[in-house]
Amino acid sequence: MFQSEDSVLIVVDVQNGFTPGGQLAVAGADQIIPSINLLAQYFENVVLTQDWHPADHVSFAANHAGKKAFETIQLSYGTQVLWPVHCVQGTQDAEFHPALDIPRAQLIIRKGFHPDIDSYSAFMEADHQTSTGLAGYLRERNIKKVYIVGIATDFCVAWTAMDASRLGFESHVIADATKAIDLDGSLQQAWQDMQAGGVKRILLEDIG
Ligand code: ZN
Repeated sequence: MFQSEDSVLIVVDVQNGFTPGGQLAVAGADQIIPSINLLAQYFENVVLTQDWHPADHVSFAANHAGKKAFETIQLSYGTQVLWPVHCVQGTQDAEFHPALDIPRAQLIIRKGFHPDIDSYSAFMEADHQTSTGLAGYLRERNIKKVYIVGIATDFCVAWTAMDASRLGFESHVIADATKAIDLDGSLQQAWQDMQAGGVKRILLEDIG
């Protein structure tokens, strides 16, 4: 079924850095790419997101003396998980995975480029104040429904989906076209948060 003009597919962070061989590899994340490529053919509107950090980014454990990856710190906007250095601007790690094949995508939203703020969500940076501009872009194009796929279910996908809902879009996550990091139960927590936030969990078979 071809999706209506007021729908958009948002493909989150299908990059070398988050797939096997990358600096923040999510196990099996490359396996969802063929489904995403196929799914994109059902959408007139497709937006890609790309995690895009400067080397001195606040989310990198290496930039905090004595801290290790996957520990947390407190920042002015709340708790921040520290990650391995990943998706540095202009590096191969930050490029889209070579198997991602969506030439029809109309917009690439780069996020996480402010050194002092992380940005899991495609809509709002992690301070919940700094907008990426995506909501305005979608509204100006009269898009009402968002369908979200990609990496990682429990971080960038979940935050994108919850922001979409909060900003007034009908928000869906296509669960079997996502892959999770699942850090200390974060996947279960993310699904609870998404459900509480009005996000609909659907499957590929509900679209095709
Ligand atoms: Zn990142």
